Amino acid sequence: MYTLDELQSIVKKCHRCPLSKARTNVVFGEGSEKATIMFIGEGPGYNEDKMGRPFVGRAGELLDRMIEAIGFKREDVYIANVVKCRPPNNRDPLEEESEICIEFLRWQVKIVDPDIIVCLGRIAAKSIIHKDFRITQNRGIWYNKGKFNIMATYHPAALLRDESKKRDAWEDFKSIKRKYEELNEDMKG
Ligand code: SF4
Repeated sequence: MYTLDELQSIVKKCHRCPLSKARTNVVFGEGSEKATIMFIGEGPGYNEDKMGRPFVGRAGELLDRMIEAIGFKREDVYIANVVKCRPPNNRDPLEEESEICIEFLRWQVKIVDPDIIVCLGRIAAKSIIHKDFRITQNRGIWYNKGKFNIMATYHPAALLRDESKKRDAWEDFKSIKRKYEELNEDMKG
């Protein structure tokens, strides 16, 4: 089993798929190694690629505010993406790119070992929950895979493009908080 630091040094040197060619930085992911909640997006955008950190542009600021609105801080959770290098012109990652890179995400999940996984947007949900996932119809539903409680909600960038989605996203975030409390109660027995 790797530590997150060991895994990060492996991923930083990765050239397993063509996305390595145009990247400025590998965006490994960040947050608490002991996080109960892990948020997963599809891949780095322009700002993330420049800074080497996930969710740092306007969408990232919105994600931070939503995390804070349910009582957590960004440092309490873990934030990562399915692909660690920016797809050119912000296109969706190709299936083959996601399939190669997701091995690193699996390691991150193994190391952090969260109880709750939240997919941000369609691409992450398709890679993690099931390939026919429809974000408008299936968001907000809890799925169980092994010990993990998994849900998908809108990507914060989609909320910036379409304000009308914010109400549903807020319901999803409240549901994340309830799930967290439920799991905590169970642990207290
Ligand atoms: S996207 Fe993932 S698999 Fe492709 S080069 Fe980057 S780290 Fe490697």
